[in-house]
Amino acid sequence: MIDSHSHLFEEEFKDDLEECLQRCKENNVNKIILVGFSKETNLKAQEYSKKYNIFYPTAGVHPDEADDNYLEKFNDLVKFVDEHKVYAIGECGIDYHYTKENMEIQKKLLHLQCKLAIERDLPIIIHMRDATKDTYDILKEYQGKLRGVMHCYSGSLEMAYEFMKLGFYISLGGPVTFKNAKEPKDVAMNIPLDRLLIETDCPFLSPEPFRGKRNESANVFYVCKKIAELRGITFEEVERQTEENTKNLFRI
Ligand SMILES: [Zn+2]
Repeated sequence: MIDSHSHLFEEEFKDDLEECLQRCKENNVNKIILVGFSKETNLKAQEYSKKYNIFYPTAGVHPDEADDNYLEKFNDLVKFVDEHKVYAIGECGIDYHYTKENMEIQKKLLHLQCKLAIERDLPIIIHMRDATKDTYDILKEYQGKLRGVMHCYSGSLEMAYEFMKLGFYISLGGPVTFKNAKEPKDVAMNIPLDRLLIETDCPFLSPEPFRGKRNESANVFYVCKKIAELRGITFEEVERQTEENTKNLFRI
């Protein structure tokens, strides 16, 4: 199994990373996409990947970073990608959950990172929260040139199909196990299995039965299990196909 979106370099894991990796082994999680989102975390993803070969690092500038220094941050990212092996650009995207004040800068940052991903022939990892239309409109401009994943997708099934048409995979995380999460379940049951990825987004969004606690990569097991249950197929089938999808997307 592959956790296609993890932040195991975060503070939350500083005391027991080795145990987290041991639990990955026990749950048969053998690859982890380690996702950076800022200058500091992009570097951490690299450092961890050199130390542990389970990790595949990415680098990006998150919409939370969208301020007046965005161009400098983007230029740092370009330089970083020149100097390091990364498996994807991102996470990046649009997030209007807390503020829309910086929306123009958020959009510019996403455009820049789409172009960078195309230029370097890398997939892009998209974070989208309360911003479906603006995110879709931007990604559509690059249709046919850009490939990537809608990470921790929480939108409608209908929009999932639209993103798939643009060349995107759909990744589901902990929320698919939540009792009241209608849309992720709808997506899990209906989209073609060959477009589906699974993830944790740890330390956030723990699946049931750990909801509310710190999340970790080993818990992608519960996401896989839930999706198999919802689709009425075997665990192994979801495991095998999502693993293949993730390898295809990130070329690992
Ligand atoms: Zn993330």
